[in-house]
Amino acid sequence: MKVHNVEMVISAVRPNQYPEDGYPEFALAGRSNVGKSSFINKMIGRKSLARISSKPGKTQTLNFYKIEEQLFFVDVPGYGYAKVSKSEREAWGKMIEEYFTSREILKAVVQIVDLRHEPTDDDCMMYDFLKHYNIPCIIIATKADKVKKGKWAQHKKVVKETLDMDPSDPLILFSSETGMGFDEAWAEIEKRM
Ligand code: GDP
Repeated sequence: MKVHNVEMVISAVRPNQYPEDGYPEFALAGRSNVGKSSFINKMIGRKSLARISSKPGKTQTLNFYKIEEQLFFVDVPGYGYAKVSKSEREAWGKMIEEYFTSREILKAVVQIVDLRHEPTDDDCMMYDFLKHYNIPCIIIATKADKVKKGKWAQHKKVVKETLDMDPSDPLILFSSETGMGFDEAWAEIEKRM
């Protein structure tokens, strides 16, 4: 999809704040600093609409971006940031669980991992959570430009095996630097709209 029109509609914490437009929603989840903002910006063709995080773990709201009057990207605050307090972590968990498990127009969660490294325990927990609730997922392994082409298959295998991925879930190699994976990621989103 070529995006011309993006509007940041609301930062929500509670269900009564979610937008009521009824457009299909795609949530973006990932560990802090994984490259989630860069992924969103690449996908919507902006330099800095989704703030590139200087303070990881700071945004504790669900940010709804309306795209082309057709769909929403819902930016979920990054997980796995060590300096977050226990109460902040709990509030985060409650907010995510509420949104992921009750939102009927949530079509899929796009979970972003780093192709360079084995997925973390937090990555695995997030994926298990999505599977447990039968939420469709699209896995994006970003920063592919940082891995030699000859190693892509091997790194892909590590991601699949560590997450214990369902073979029917797509795993897309992506790079916000080169645009690799852009068409494939949009295709997976569009077929679920
Ligand atoms: P977020 O905390 O998950 O939103 O992560 P950011 O999008 O802020 O990215 C974290 C850091 O990784 C920044 O320095 C980005 O420039 C860098 N980064 C993100 N995506 C890529 C990518 O695809 N390739 C490379 N080389 N760097 C990336």
